[in-house]
Amino acid sequence: MKYNSIWEQYNKHSIENKKLPSEVVDILIIGGGITGLTLSYLLKDYSQKVVIIDKGKIGNSVTSRSTAKISFLQQDIYQKLEKTFDYETSKKYYESQMYAIELLKNIIEKNKISCDFLDSPSYLFTNMENNIKSLEKEKQLLTSFGVECFDSDELPIKFPVKKVFYTKNNYTFNPVKYLNKLVNIIKSNIEIYENVCAENINYENNNYIIETSQGKIKAKKVVIANQYPFFIKPGFIPFRNYMKREYVNAASIDKKYQFNAINIDDELHSIRFYNKYLIYVSNSHRIVNKLDSEKNYQKAQDNFYKYFNLKPEYSWLNQDLITNDHLPIIGEVKKDLFISTGYNAWGMTNGVLGAKIIHDLLEKTNNEFTDLVKPNRINTIGIFNSIIDSLSYIKPYIEAPFHNNDIYVEEDNGIKYNVYVDSKGIKHRVKRKCPHLKCNLIFNKKELTWDCPCHGSRFDLDGKLIEGPSKKDI
Ligand SMILES: Cc1cc2nc3c(=O)[nH]c(=O)nc-3n(C[C@H](O)[C@H](O)[C@H](O)COP(=O)(O)OP(=O)(O)OC[C@H]3O[C@@H](n4cnc5c(N)ncnc54)[C@H](O)[C@@H]3O)c2cc1C
Repeated sequence: MKYNSIWEQYNKHSIENKKLPSEVVDILIIGGGITGLTLSYLLKDYSQKVVIIDKGKIGNSVTSRSTAKISFLQQDIYQKLEKTFDYETSKKYYESQMYAIELLKNIIEKNKISCDFLDSPSYLFTNMENNIKSLEKEKQLLTSFGVECFDSDELPIKFPVKKVFYTKNNYTFNPVKYLNKLVNIIKSNIEIYENVCAENINYENNNYIIETSQGKIKAKKVVIANQYPFFIKPGFIPFRNYMKREYVNAASIDKKYQFNAINIDDELHSIRFYNKYLIYVSNSHRIVNKLDSEKNYQKAQDNFYKYFNLKPEYSWLNQDLITNDHLPIIGEVKKDLFISTGYNAWGMTNGVLGAKIIHDLLEKTNNEFTDLVKPNRINTIGIFNSIIDSLSYIKPYIEAPFHNNDIYVEEDNGIKYNVYVDSKGIKHRVKRKCPHLKCNLIFNKKELTWDCPCHGSRFDLDGKLIEGPSKKDI
């Protein structure tokens, strides 16, 4: 069994190493996932100099660990938005998702991108008696937006459901094949730099100065497309969302299906298919609520066996930002500084939406969805959720919230370190706090990483950064 995503094997592009540009670039895009690369594609005919950097290999991060359903059926999002804002906002969000789906479809069709883009009816279901009303409410809202919802007695694959309906005009694809092709399309017009980590940003003499692991880059305009902005101000992103983790298992099955499904219950079940594989997501949780990664993986694998009688051939985890008012955060946070984040685990649509809105802001073209997702919106329920949410970080901030017998703490010159001794007897020692906002790190025994339970930064055994928002090694 492989502890990596089913898509990673398709990451095949190659980018030549070169020195960072010394001249001022017009637009610097930080992050080459679905957001950064789709934006690069939209800017490919731009007459000015556009550069994209990534701290690792382009297209090898959250997007390549997604389940990559392109769907407007997003659990109970529409009733959540109606409750947090109002009916009009909920409807507008639905329209934004349809807009993004159409745009993505156009890019794929126009460029003949073979990324296994398939029409795939989406099922929404509950397996809890007391959530039937909520499912009906979601269906009623969708119907009022003009979506045709079809009742069904069951899912096309054997799975326990109490109530279910499905909709058309949803899709699935291979996200890494899509990103690979975008790299090939843009690379003659846009300079791409891999293994360049943005660490700091300052504004001087009408330009942004971005300090990176490879030196400084000067840019007139900067787009932060790295899933989780590496700065706190402007935007205050760490205080407006929490990090959710989910576990994905995939195995080959005998029969071919073409649909995807997700439920609205607290215990997540999400299903899609890719060629001969069934891909199943479960055990979704706020990182801070379930800290024993070994148990978490085990629970998801047990579910895979329980519901499908399957043992995984691929098993991986992924994490995404869940915003406290359920809308993504996209737009200009400061003059000529743009962010696109907070996709609530629906980045195939929201990443494309973010790319298009930022493209239109750069081009000074009107976009009907700019106001919906603007970063400086204020909402009382969102603020209340943020306050409640921040309380959960107190414990991991004050003390290491979880220990197991695999690590011990060592003190040296008054500084405490976490120590792990690997199977060869080699000692790996790191400081105990995450460099981002100083939460105490936890040990992930399954993948041998140090993870931040608050904001999701991850580091290897020797403290080297794997995934932000931290921009530094431990
Ligand atoms: C289990 C799971 C399943 C999901 N399934 C779906 C789904 O079915 N459908 C859907 O729509 N969404 C899904 N999502 C959500 C979706 O995967 C994400 O929202 C989306 O991939 C985020 O895209 P991105 O471009 O923002 O980030 P990324 O793909 O992570 O791209 C950001 C890039 O920025 C780079 N980077 C980071 N920090 C820096 C730095 N400091 N300097 C330079 N570069 C940096 C990274 O290396 C990375 O390549 C799922 C999420 C999870 C957790």
